[in-house]
Amino acid sequence: MFLDGLRLRRDDGVPLHRQIADAILAEVSTGRLQPGGRLPASRDLARELGVNRGTVQKAYDLLVSAGEARARVGQGTFISGSPPAVSAAALRGRPGRAGTAVGSPGGGLPFAFDPRAAEDPDWQRLSRWSARPGVISLAGGVPDARLFPVEPFQECLNAALDEEGASLLQYGASRGHAGFLGFLGRHLRRRGLSIGPGQILVVSGSQQGLDLIGRALIAPGDAVVVEDPTYSGALALFRMLGARLLPVPMDDDGLDVEHLSGLLARERPRLVYTIPTFHNPTGQTLSRARRARLLEVCGAAGVPVVEDDSDGELRFEGSEQPPLAALPQAHGVIYMGTFSKLFFPGLRLGWVVADGPVIQRLEATKRVTDLHTPPLLQAAMARFAESEVCGVICDEVRTRYRARRDVMLATLEETMPEGTRWTRPDGGLSLMVDLPGGLDAGDLLPRAVDEGVVFAPGRLFSPGRTGSHRLRLTYGSVEEDEIATGVSRLAAAVRHEMQGQASGSRTVVSAPPLV
Ligand code: PMP
Repeated sequence: MFLDGLRLRRDDGVPLHRQIADAILAEVSTGRLQPGGRLPASRDLARELGVNRGTVQKAYDLLVSAGEARARVGQGTFISGSPPAVSAAALRGRPGRAGTAVGSPGGGLPFAFDPRAAEDPDWQRLSRWSARPGVISLAGGVPDARLFPVEPFQECLNAALDEEGASLLQYGASRGHAGFLGFLGRHLRRRGLSIGPGQILVVSGSQQGLDLIGRALIAPGDAVVVEDPTYSGALALFRMLGARLLPVPMDDDGLDVEHLSGLLARERPRLVYTIPTFHNPTGQTLSRARRARLLEVCGAAGVPVVEDDSDGELRFEGSEQPPLAALPQAHGVIYMGTFSKLFFPGLRLGWVVADGPVIQRLEATKRVTDLHTPPLLQAAMARFAESEVCGVICDEVRTRYRARRDVMLATLEETMPEGTRWTRPDGGLSLMVDLPGGLDAGDLLPRAVDEGVVFAPGRLFSPGRTGSHRLRLTYGSVEEDEIATGVSRLAAAVRHEMQGQASGSRTVVSAPPLV
C-alpha cells in the first residue's frame, strides 16, 4: 500500500485532494518517499483510497502547482528532485502557484512563492513619486494621521494598563480580548448584525481577515469572484493564493448582480468578494435592492459572500445601508470590518464575523499564524471606542473627509475637460475618474507627475489589469487646498494629453527616474 494508514476525513471540511496531497508530503518529509520518486498511477491510488480518480489527479495537480512534484508526459508524476521546499501546512496555506515556482533560486533560498509577483510593482513607483518634493499625491488610500486623536488614545492605553496590568502584556486569546469583543458585539448589533456568541474573531487588520478567509477557502486554481474594479490588496492576496479571478463588472449602481447571476450559472467559485459600501476604489454604494438580489443569487448557488466593510464606518452623506450581513437573506455571509479608515491603521485592529464553525476554523488558522492580536491595543481601543470623546472625534473626522470630497468634486467639475466622468461617493476615501476620449491613464501618469500630481491608474484595481481609461483619486490625507491644486494639475495634464492626441504629435513624457 502506498499511503498506508491514511484515513480520509470526509466531514472536517478539508477537501479530500488536499488530504491526499498532505499525506504524500508527509511521506516525503519522513523520507519514505524520496525526491525523484514516482507517484502511483492515479487510477491505482484512487482504488487504494476508495476515491475517484479525479480526486487523486487533483491532489497531484496541487503538488505540481506548488512545485513539490513534476508531471512528465507519458511517464507519470514524480516527487521533485530537490528537497521539499514547503511543508504540508504551508502547501495548504500558501500555494506557490501565483509566484515563482518552488525551488527556484532566491538568494540561494528555495522560496515557495513570490508575493512580489502578486503585488503590482507600480505601487512602489507611485509611492516614490508621491514622496517627491512638490508633488501632491492623490494616489494613496490612507486616512490622515494629522487627524488621529493621539492624546485621548494614550489616556486609554494608560487606563487599560492601570486596570488590567500585566495580563495585557501576557499571551492572549486568539479569539480576541474579552473587552474588545464585547464592544464589537454591541457596536455591530447596533449596525444591524445579529451576532450570537462565538461569532466574532479579532484580526490584525481586515487584510489579515481576508488572508485567513482565503487560506481557509481557496486552493490553487479555485475560482474567486471579484468586482471589477476592486481593492488591489485583495487582488494581490487572491493571486498569491493561486486563485482564478472571475471579474464582475460594476455599473453606475455598483456590482452588476445580473451579470454575477449569469456567471454563477456557469462557474462554481469558492467565494464572492464584495465591497458593497463606499467601495474601494469607486466609492460606490450598492442599493438595498441589489444587496438583497446579491444574497439571493449567491444563496441559490451556495457560494459564500465575503463582505468587506472596511470603509463602512466612514459615511458622511446619504442614508445608511445595512451591511449585507445584517439583511434577513444573509446566510453564510462572512463579514469583515476595521478601524483603519477612521484612525490608527497602524494598530492593525480588524474583525471578522461569521457562523460559529467558520470562526472556529479562522481562529485555528490565526492561532497557527500569529497566535493573537496584541491584547493591550484591543483593551485600549475598547475603552477609546466606547468613550464619549470617540463619538465626537469620529464626527469631526467624517466632517473633514466630507469637506475634502466636496473640494475634489467641485474642482473636478470646474477643471476637467468635457467627457470626463467620475463617481460621487457618500463615504470612504476615494473616487474613480473615467478619462475622456479613450485616454490611457498609464500614459497620462508621467505627464501628471511632471505637472506635480500622482494618482493610481485603474489597471491596479482590475483583476484582468484592464481599466486603462480610468484612475483612482483619494482625498483622505490631503488638505483641501492641495486637493484643489492637485486636481487642477491633473486636469492640465489631461488637456495636454488630449491636445497631443488630437494633433497627432504627442510628446511622450518619460517616467521620472525612480529616486
Ligand atoms: N479592504 C479594503 C477595501 C481596504 O481599502 C483596505 C485598506 N486599504 C483593507 C481591506 C485593509 O485594511 P486593514 O488591514 O488596515 O484593516
